[in-house]
Amino acid sequence: MRKNIVAGNWKMNTTLQDAQALVSEIVHMVQDEAASSPAEVVICPPFPLLPVVGRLLPEGGKLHLGAQNCHQKESGAFTGEVSAKLLASIGTEYVILGHSERRQYFREDDELLSQKLKAALGAGLKPIFCVGESLETREADETFKFIEKQLKDGLFHLSNEEFAQVVIAYEPIWAIGTGKTATSQQAQEVHAFIREQVARAYDAEQAQNTTILYGGSANAQNARELFSQPDVDGGLIGGASLKSRDFTEIIKSF
Ligand code: 13P
Repeated sequence: MRKNIVAGNWKMNTTLQDAQALVSEIVHMVQDEAASSPAEVVICPPFPLLPVVGRLLPEGGKLHLGAQNCHQKESGAFTGEVSAKLLASIGTEYVILGHSERRQYFREDDELLSQKLKAALGAGLKPIFCVGESLETREADETFKFIEKQLKDGLFHLSNEEFAQVVIAYEPIWAIGTGKTATSQQAQEVHAFIREQVARAYDAEQAQNTTILYGGSANAQNARELFSQPDVDGGLIGGASLKSRDFTEIIKSF
């Protein structure tokens, strides 16, 4: 079912102490100030902090736990990797897959991401699957073609039931960490296109039920305008999710 979601991707930031302080502040502010927001909030800290952050989130509330990655195999001799099953066993509900930083720095391609999606879904995790074009692709006027291929090769092999568990995040690479946000019109245009592709690959009902988040320099100042677009259902937030005040403002921006 289509939801409003604000997810904080902490990336490789924070220490144990930072994380404890940050989450305690967010929990308080969400209880006091963002109580009436329709958004489900997902916190995605680095792996070792998942249990600590998870323990600080009030049970049954609007705050949920997410991971930033998982391995494609269920278990085995893969030194340094983390399985979806382990993530699920410590209370993780969501997992970000296909982030452009993983695609770029760790060479994750559509084939590998397809396997990771299966592993995540098999363990009962809800994937937040990222797509998004580079500046070069946008300037060559190939954004739609590029996104269409990422969706087709990475995501649309899933069955109806599997796909129903997936959240899509549109993160234009040129907007990530650059301070250069997509305009609300640019975001809406791509989000509407993504929804159209979902309708084609599945059906209109599935498309209406799909949550599509925007990510890329979203902040307390521009979130309201972005979230007011009909096909923008929330945000995947990097930098601004590390500041409790800004993150709470974003949660309230519906
Ligand atoms: P910024 O919000 O820092 O641009 O990062 C966006 C992002 O990559 C979230 O996954």
